[in-house]
Amino acid sequence: MDQTQEFLRQLVEAHGAPGFESNVAAVMEQRLKGVGSFSRDRLGSFICEKKGTAASPRVMLAGHLDEVGFMVKSVTKEGFVKFLPLGGWWGHVVLAQRLVIKTRKGDVVGVVGSKPPHELRDEDRKKVLEIRDMYIDVGATSDFDVRKRLDIRPGDPIVPDSPFAVMANPNLLLAKAWDNRIGCALAAETLRALQGTKHPNTVYAVATVQEEVGLRGAQTSAFKLNPDVGIALDVGIAHDTPGAEGDEKLGGGPLVVIYDSSAIPNRKLIELVMDTARRLKIPLQYESVERGGTDAGRIHVNAEGVPCLSMGVPARYIHSHVSIIDRRDFDRTVKLLAAVVGSLDRKTVDRLT
Ligand SMILES: [Zn+2]
Repeated sequence: MDQTQEFLRQLVEAHGAPGFESNVAAVMEQRLKGVGSFSRDRLGSFICEKKGTAASPRVMLAGHLDEVGFMVKSVTKEGFVKFLPLGGWWGHVVLAQRLVIKTRKGDVVGVVGSKPPHELRDEDRKKVLEIRDMYIDVGATSDFDVRKRLDIRPGDPIVPDSPFAVMANPNLLLAKAWDNRIGCALAAETLRALQGTKHPNTVYAVATVQEEVGLRGAQTSAFKLNPDVGIALDVGIAHDTPGAEGDEKLGGGPLVVIYDSSAIPNRKLIELVMDTARRLKIPLQYESVERGGTDAGRIHVNAEGVPCLSMGVPARYIHSHVSIIDRRDFDRTVKLLAAVVGSLDRKTVDRLT
C-alpha cells in the first residue's frame, strides 16, 4: 500500500459524525505536517495555509470532514438504544448494520436490530422501516447496563462500522465515508503536489465540519478565510450500476458539477478547469444534482460573493456503510487541481467576476 493509499485508509476508518470530526482532523494534520500552517475555525473546521509567491489571490479548496452518522436519543428500559440520523439516510441501508457508539468511556459496538423474514407479515415486507422505529442492540440486558456500565448517554455520536478494503480490481477501493474523506484527501494531496512549485497565490486546504447537516463549516471557514476563489471537493454519484440513469462512471475521470440545488458554479472557472484538463489530457465528466448540494453552496455567497465550483470523483453507494471509488479518478483529480491552482494568479482570478 503506497503512502497515499494508507492516508486514504486512515481517513475513511476515522470516526467523524457531523459535529464530532476531531479524529478526522487529526489525520489531516498528520498528513500536512511541514506543508503549511494550521488553524481552525470555531466550529472545528481544519485549515492548512500554504503560501506561494503572492499573498493573494486566496484560493480555498474545501472537502468536508464529517460523514453521515447518528446520535443517541434515548435508552429503553430493556437496554436498547434509540437513535436519530445526522445527515441523509435511507432506512433500507440501516437495518442489521454494525455501528459504533462513541462514549466518554470509549467505543461500544452494536447492531441495528431487525426481524427475521419468518416473522414479517406481507405488508411489513414491502415497507421501508423508519429510523425512529429502529433500535441499536449493544448486547445489554437493562438500561442500568447501558447507562452505568457502558456510560452511553443521549447526544453520543454513532458512526458506521466498516473497514477499508482494496477490491479484486486494485483501483477500486471499498469503504465507508468516501463522502467526503475523498474531498479532504483531494485538498491535502493537492497542497502536497504544489510543494516545490511556484504557485502565484495563497492556497488553503480546508476540511469543513457539519456539511451533511447543512454546509455549516463551509460558512464559518469561508468567513474566516475570505477567499477570492473557492473549489468545493466532494463525491459525485456514479451511474454505472444496473438500473442507474446517467453516464458518470468509476474510472471515467474527475467529475465537475454543472448544477446543484445549492449553487450555480462560476462559468469562467469551469472553463478554466476544462481547458486545463484538455491540456493535461485528463477526461472530465459532468454531473447535475437536483436534490442536494456541496460546500460551494455556502462559500460562493460569502461576503460579496466568491467565484466557485464543485468537483471531485464519482462514487457508488454513498450514504451507506460501503461506498466505492476508483483510485485513478482520485490521482487525476489531484493532478488537475494542482495545475488549476498553479494558474490562479491575480489577473486570472480578477477576470472570473
Ligand atoms: Zn454526503
